[in-house]
Amino acid sequence: MRTMFVAGNWKMNLNHADGTHLATHLAHHRASAAASHVEIAVIPPVIYLQAIHKVINGTHLKLGAQNCWYEKHGAFTGEISVQMLRECGVQYVLAGHSERRHICNEHDGLINKKVQAIIAEDLTAVLCVGETGDQRKAYKTVEVVGEQLAKGLAHVNKRAVEQDQLVIAYEPVWAIGTGVNAKPEEAQEVHVFIRQQLAKLFGNDDAANVRIVYGGSVKANNAYEILRQPDVDGALVGGASLIADEFLGIVDAAARARPLAL
Ligand code: PEP
Repeated sequence: MRTMFVAGNWKMNLNHADGTHLATHLAHHRASAAASHVEIAVIPPVIYLQAIHKVINGTHLKLGAQNCWYEKHGAFTGEISVQMLRECGVQYVLAGHSERRHICNEHDGLINKKVQAIIAEDLTAVLCVGETGDQRKAYKTVEVVGEQLAKGLAHVNKRAVEQDQLVIAYEPVWAIGTGVNAKPEEAQEVHVFIRQQLAKLFGNDDAANVRIVYGGSVKANNAYEILRQPDVDGALVGGASLIADEFLGIVDAAARARPLAL
C-alpha cells in the first residue's frame, strides 16, 4: 500500500523566526498517534533550509526544496544545485510547480532537466502537473497533463521509480491559492489518468507504487474527502501549511483516509 505523503509548500512566506517556530511545533506535535504512518515534509524558502534542518533533524519531519538548478556547479548566478540542497538535508525537490511554469516561464524541457538532476543526486523529484481553468473548460485536461508528464519524465528510468524517487503532484492551476478545490471525483479521475500514463512509461507494477498527491486549496476541513479517493496518495499544501493546526489537520485526514493495515 502506498504511504500517504503530505508536504507543506511555504512558497515565499514566513521569516526565519516564524519558520523555525512552525517547524519546531510540527516536529514535536504529531497530528495524532494514528498519523505516524503518514510521511510529512516541509518545503520552506531556500534561505531557511539549514535553519529548519537543524530543528527537524532526527524527527519524523522531512525537508523539501521548492526549486533547483540542473547543473552541479558553475556560472549560474542566483541558482542552487541539487547537490547543495542535499547538503542542507533536503530529500524532496519540487519541479514544475505551476507558479514556476506560469510566473517564471519554466517549460517542460527545463523541468525535465531538473527532474533528471534531482534523481541523479538520489533525491526524490516531486513533479507538479496541472491544467489551467481555460484548459479545463476546453476539455484539455488530459491532453495538457499527458504532455507535461511525457515531457517532464523523458529519460527517467524505471530504477528511479523502483527506488521511490518520483512523486507526481496533480495541481490544477485554477485550484491553487483560490479556495476552489477540485471535487474529489475530479481529482480521482485525473489521478487515474496519471497512473495509466505512468504504467505506459514504467509498467503496471511500478506505476502502482508511485505516490500521486493532489494540490490546490487543500484545508483541514476538505482534505478527508479528497484524500480518501483510492488514487490520491497525499497532498501538496500551500496556504494551509503555514498554520500548524490546519496542516496537522490535513495530516490527520490523510491518516484517517488510509489507515495503517494491521
Ligand atoms: C501549492 O502551492 O502547491 C498549493 C497547492 O497551494 P494552495 O494549497 O495554497 O492552493
